Amino acid sequence: MKSLTQLLALAALLTAHGLAQMSHSILGEETTKISEHVWAIMGFPNIAIVVGSRATLVVDTGMGAKNGATVARVAAKLAPNNSRLYLTTTHFHPEHAAGEPGFPAGTILIRDEVQQQEMEKHGQEMIDMFSARSAENKALLAGGVLRAPDVTFTQEADVDLGGVTARLLWYGGAHTKGDELTFVEPDRTLVSGDVVQNKTMPNIFGDGGTPATWLAVLDKIEGLNAAHVLPDHSAPGDGSMVAAERELISGIRTRALALKQQGVSAEDAGKTISSELKTQHPDWPNTNASGFVKSVYAEPQ
Ligand SMILES: [Zn+2]
Repeated sequence: MKSLTQLLALAALLTAHGLAQMSHSILGEETTKISEHVWAIMGFPNIAIVVGSRATLVVDTGMGAKNGATVARVAAKLAPNNSRLYLTTTHFHPEHAAGEPGFPAGTILIRDEVQQQEMEKHGQEMIDMFSARSAENKALLAGGVLRAPDVTFTQEADVDLGGVTARLLWYGGAHTKGDELTFVEPDRTLVSGDVVQNKTMPNIFGDGGTPATWLAVLDKIEGLNAAHVLPDHSAPGDGSMVAAERELISGIRTRALALKQQGVSAEDAGKTISSELKTQHPDWPNTNASGFVKSVYAEPQ
């Protein structure tokens, strides 16, 4: 018999990754239009496809080659005459990056250097972890080889797709150390990964960023003045999602630091803050802040 505490801890582990993954690891071919040049396959995770007059950029791959091939097929259908296909990834986790082998030869793979370093350090470990979660994952991820990117960048790489530019940005660590943002101009569409989400609890996985660095990243994102936001594990929305994410994270952080100051344990603070958030946001699917509160407690002060 598991205690309530153990069950809560288990629930905390089943973050956006775990929960979503059980429901839909296989991506479909249906697309949703986000802005003039940006389409999305809504799934686990949401995939962005940015279409210019000459080239197409895909952001994230889906889990394993089978999903990657689906995404590449959808991209080709959206722009059959485009001669170049670029691929980038929001972060190195398997549902975002491990579908690369399903993309056609000649696809130009780009990611930020920090993300690539994380991939080299922890990529296989994450694939093994996801593979152990279900037979479906194991089959999807079997035999996938993580190839080296064709291009890496430190802070920004601009990709001219013809009439539309995708600015690939690394602003610092948040959900992971290498979180990459894609800002599409002139649409003002931000493909935000886990960094800006919709009614979703923030989560720092493994040795990612810290709550403080996540806030610093959000400050930089504010400067982009996004009109549309497409996150990876929640519904798309408008630019107000950026401020809402900032408010959520700084709210949890301020409250957690106050409770820490009072000598409250991280575990108890997590429970208190989770139930306060449930009261504030009764419509959110999940307000379990335990993991993020632990990240605040662990921050160097
Ligand atoms: Zn992730």
